Amino acid sequence: MSGKERLPVRGTQGDLLRLIATGQAESRAELARLSGLAASSVSLRVEELIGAGLLVEEGPGASRGGRRPRRLRLSPGAGLLAVADLGAQHARLGLLDLSGAPLVVEERPCDISLGPEATIDWIAAAFDDLMGRHAPPGVPLRGVGTGIPGPVDPATGRVVAPSRMPGWNGFPVAERLGGHFDLPVLVENDANLMAVGEARSWPGRDTLMAVKAGSGIGCGVIVNGTLHRGRGAAGDISHVRVSSDSSTACSCGHLDCLEAYASGAALRQVLREQGIPVERPADIVALVEDGVPEATALVRNAGRLIGDVLTVLVNFLNPDAIVVGGGLSSAEPLISAIRAAVYERCLPLATRDLEIGHSRSGPDAALLGAGSLLLDAVVG
Ligand SMILES: [Zn+2]
Repeated sequence: MSGKERLPVRGTQGDLLRLIATGQAESRAELARLSGLAASSVSLRVEELIGAGLLVEEGPGASRGGRRPRRLRLSPGAGLLAVADLGAQHARLGLLDLSGAPLVVEERPCDISLGPEATIDWIAAAFDDLMGRHAPPGVPLRGVGTGIPGPVDPATGRVVAPSRMPGWNGFPVAERLGGHFDLPVLVENDANLMAVGEARSWPGRDTLMAVKAGSGIGCGVIVNGTLHRGRGAAGDISHVRVSSDSSTACSCGHLDCLEAYASGAALRQVLREQGIPVERPADIVALVEDGVPEATALVRNAGRLIGDVLTVLVNFLNPDAIVVGGGLSSAEPLISAIRAAVYERCLPLATRDLEIGHSRSGPDAALLGAGSLLLDAVVG
C-alpha cells in the first residue's frame, strides 16, 4: 500500500501499527503528527506494541534536524492473519502479514450448502494447511476471519436469515471458528469486507458504497472512512422491492426483490430456462463477451434495476464513489447501465463529484478488508 492508500487515522493501536507497517511513519514524532495523538499517548501505545512483539525499534531513523530518532519497524516475526471470503461454490483464502499485504491467496472449491459446521471446519483446516505450507518458521498466527455471503449480526457473529444458505440461519460462526483457534475472530458480511478493502484504494473518497454483484447482490457502506454496519443490515439492498410487470418470488419469501431479478443466481435461472447452461457469474460474463444477446440484455436490465435502487441511496447518502465489484461486475453492460440510471435520475448536486467505477482491489478486496478489520481486533 502506498501512503495515499489508507483509511483516515483514528489513533487506535491498530492504526499506529498500520502506519508503521505501511511505511507511512517510522518514528514516534511522525505517529503523533499523523494520528493527532499527544506524544505521551503515542509513546505509551508504541511501548505496548513493542512489548507485544509487534514492533521493533532499531538504528537511527531519517534525520528531521536535531536529534536522530530511532526507527520503528514492524517486527519480522510479528505474525500473520488468516482470512477467507466464502462464496456459494468456492472460497478465497489468504495469509496476510500485519501490514495487510497478502503472503499467499488461493481459491478452492467449497460448497456452503453442506451446512455451517462442515464449512467452518473446512475453513479452519484450510487455514492450518496454509500456515503449514507458507508461514515462515516461528511466525505466529494472530487472528482469523471470514466473510459470509449473507447478513451477520456484529454483536454475536451469527448469520441472520441468509438467502441460499440452508441451515445457516442463526448459526454462531464466530464461536465455531473460535473453537479451532484461541485467537481474535472476525466474521463479517462479504460486501462489508469488500467495502473496507476497496476504501484503501480510493484516496480522498471517504464516503463510498461498494456494490457486490455476484451470485447475490450486496452493498457495503463506508462513511467518513469507517464501515457503517448499523445493527448488521446496513447496505443490504438485495431485498429492496423493484417495480416490475410480473411477480417473481424471492428466496426471502417476498415478491419482486432486487435479488430476484438482478442477482447472478436470478440471471442463471433465466438463462437455463432459455436453454443456455450457466454455472457461475463468470460464465454469464463470458456469454456477454461472446456477444450472446440474451445474456447481454439480462445483464443490462440487472444494471438498470441496481442503478434504480442506487439512485435513492445516492440522493440520500451523497457518497463520493460507487464501487462495483463481484463476479458479474466485469460484464461491461452492468456498470454502464448503473451509471446511466444514476446520472440520469439523481440530483445534479449528488452526482457532480460522484465517481462510479470498477473495483480497484479486484477479487482480493474482501480479504484485504478482513485483514484491516482483523488487525484492529488483534491490537485494538
Ligand atoms: Zn427478497
